[in-house]
Amino acid sequence: MRILLFGPPGVGKGTQADLLSKKYNFIKFSIGDILREEVSLNSNLGNKVESYLNRGVLVPNNIIFELVKLFLGKNKEAHILFDGFPRTLDQAKNLEKSLAQLGLSLDVALEMHLAEDEIIKRLLNRRYCPKCNRIYNYATTPPKINGVCDQCRTKLEKRSDDDANTIRKRLQVYEEKTHPLVDYYKSLSVYNQTDAISSPEEVFDKISKIIDGYINKE
Ligand SMILES: [Zn+2]
Repeated sequence: MRILLFGPPGVGKGTQADLLSKKYNFIKFSIGDILREEVSLNSNLGNKVESYLNRGVLVPNNIIFELVKLFLGKNKEAHILFDGFPRTLDQAKNLEKSLAQLGLSLDVALEMHLAEDEIIKRLLNRRYCPKCNRIYNYATTPPKINGVCDQCRTKLEKRSDDDANTIRKRLQVYEEKTHPLVDYYKSLSVYNQTDAISSPEEVFDKISKIIDGYINKE
């Protein structure tokens, strides 16, 4: 099974992706992780990626597409969860092409919904661990000890782009670039959606039911 999770920043994709991966044995495709992994391999491609990351510019699509291909080639038989990827219509179309070349397809593209003021509230409460990259949220998933990572005891930090103005801009970018995926995936008959307003556990239950529905159909 291949599932894709998308939704605005702060909707809780990462948390759900982790929970779902554990429950259904999905291999997670998260572009940030994939980029970091390739850099650590010291491959040709990894060195290119590193030069973009070091300059703080977006890694261009041709490199991303190559990484997607490599990943799919290695994980043909696996259950895959795409976490927050694709972000644009171009990326979505390329993913579809790469899947088709391997005789594969996407089973469900699941959109997570949340009202804008709720997203802003959540993002303002978000903290991350600079050492192990774990994300916390003082509103929904706080650390056990205030301000400290549960896993590695590092002091939590706030991302510099988690302030109200930047958040509004990021939501605008999402609306323009990523939201068109809704119509695209509807046209492929793989679109589904869920509300993300309740607790992470409740959202997890809702998404699990949707996935179970697809598994039972197979
Ligand atoms: Zn940590």
